[in-house]
Amino acid sequence: MSRRIVCIQCPMGCVMNVGFAENGEVTSVEGNSCGRGKKYAQAEANNPVRTVCGTVCAAGCLEPVSYRTSAPVPKALVCDVAREAAGLSLRAPIAMGDVICENVCGTGISLVATKTVG
Ligand code: SF4
Repeated sequence: MSRRIVCIQCPMGCVMNVGFAENGEVTSVEGNSCGRGKKYAQAEANNPVRTVCGTVCAAGCLEPVSYRTSAPVPKALVCDVAREAAGLSLRAPIAMGDVICENVCGTGISLVATKTVG
């Protein structure tokens, strides 16, 4: 069994053909131009993660607050993280670097403001 995975570790965007054993273990990686691609393919196959970025409204400010997760979260939780962020009740002023949500979706990861507003 094999799967095509595009490496997103650099702008080259190598298209890799990743072979799997029946137990899901990665058996081969082809098409990567460097070792980072192989590592990415293995992580993507076993535990895909994503950094989540977005914006949310804050009372007392017309400008939305942009945020990102302090670390990548499991890919399966991306929509849940965005939903929890959308439900936050924030109040300006908020400074870039402020934690606007701790332990989002029980991941232990925070949402951090990436811009100062208010
Ligand atoms: S395999 Fe290496 S060169 Fe290719 S996209 Fe990934 S990091 Fe970039």
